[in-house]
This record gives sequence, C-alpha cells and structure tokens, in this order.
Amino acid sequence: MKDEKVCAIEGCDEPASKEVDRSFLPFIQELKLKLKEDTGKKIPLCRKHYKMVKQVRDAQLSGF
Ligand SMILES: [Zn+2]
Repeated sequence: MKDEKVCAIEGCDEPASKEVDRSFLPFIQELKLKLKEDTGKKIPLCRKHYKMVKQVRDAQLSGF
C-alpha cells in the first residue's frame, strides 16, 4: 500500500506531491506559513505550497 502523505502546512489538507528537506524551512517561514508539527527530516508539501516555497527559494538564490 502506498504511504499517503498530506501537506505539512497548517490549515492545508491537500495530498503531498513533493517532499523537501529542512533547508526549505526558512523559505516556508518567509511565506508566514506554519508547519502542523515537526515533520522530521523531510517536509511533505502539496503542489501549491511546493510551488510557493520554491518560488521564494529560487528568487533568493538568484538574488546574489
Ligand atoms: Zn499545502
């Protein structure tokens, strides 16, 4: 059976489509998003939240 994961962002019940590591945490916080709980090494994110977080990350990485 497949391990169904749900997005780790508080208030979001979408199924997770991606998992990111903890280096993404600052970008999640930058978006003023909260995690439901400490998820461990990997943070499951739904498609929408992954896109948002990745956008912030890409913007910061290309900002140098
Ligand atoms: Zn989500």
